[in-house]
Amino acid sequence: MVATTERVLDPAQAIYDYVLPARQPWSKVITKGQVLRIVDLEGNQAVDTLIYNAHDPSERYSAPDTVVRQGNIFITTGTQLISNLGNVLMTVIADTCGRHDTLGGACSMESNSVRYGLHKKHLHACVENFLLELSKYGLHKRDLVSNINFFMNVPVTADGRLEIVDGISAPGKYVDLRAEMDVMVLISNCPQINNPCNAYNPTPIRLLVWDAA
Ligand SMILES: [Zn+2]
Repeated sequence: MVATTERVLDPAQAIYDYVLPARQPWSKVITKGQVLRIVDLEGNQAVDTLIYNAHDPSERYSAPDTVVRQGNIFITTGTQLISNLGNVLMTVIADTCGRHDTLGGACSMESNSVRYGLHKKHLHACVENFLLELSKYGLHKRDLVSNINFFMNVPVTADGRLEIVDGISAPGKYVDLRAEMDVMVLISNCPQINNPCNAYNPTPIRLLVWDAA
């Protein structure tokens, strides 16, 4: 059983409202106090996400620090997203899905080749999306770290194995992230078609930003 929380925010009051097509990368600076909502428009769409300090991108999201700080491997309402310097980048303030992954990593040409065969090598993948978008900021491969997979269901079995299975998300589910410092949020709207993370069908997401209340 996963707990969910809603939050009343009026899309008409948003200062930014954009539908990111399936398979595409995206990034935006979210200033301290602003709220970013990620909406899983059609359901079961993995949203690979990284977060950087907007003023010094050498400070960035840290999956291990986030897991240790929460004492939990899943991300949901109340989770503080922690940087490699131990600072809070963003806080999850609402979540109608209930659980998000930060262990499964991002798909890449290499992982697609190993997992699904060499003939899958040239399928578009999240790592390529990340690199393309990072290049706009003068950042590159060494700036990639383990990411968050919003709406992706990666249960961990009793003996510690990770699985990638059908999602627990559904059309219209969303997660709200409040910036605790000025951050740059980087997204790959995952193009994966070889496992159930996107229900074998990559779909668009909606991104909204509200100013600090
Ligand atoms: Zn992916």
